[in-house]
Amino acid sequence: MSSPKRCPDCGVELEALKIKTAEGHFLRIETDEPLEGIWGKLGSKEVLKPTAHVCPECGLTRLYTKQEPN
Ligand SMILES: [Zn+2]
Repeated sequence: MSSPKRCPDCGVELEALKIKTAEGHFLRIETDEPLEGIWGKLGSKEVLKPTAHVCPECGLTRLYTKQEPN
């Protein structure tokens, strides 16, 4: 359960938007945390997908990441 994100300046609820590159790829953030299990042993790192939260009033944009359940 995630509570609504609010703009610190306007106090209004931020809109969650998917963020992509100009080429249409989703952004991904690679952490230094190795994956659990065999992939981590092979050197794979945990990957997070950021979601943009945009203030409809002033346009402030924040990126939030959370772990994707596999
Ligand atoms: Zn705002």
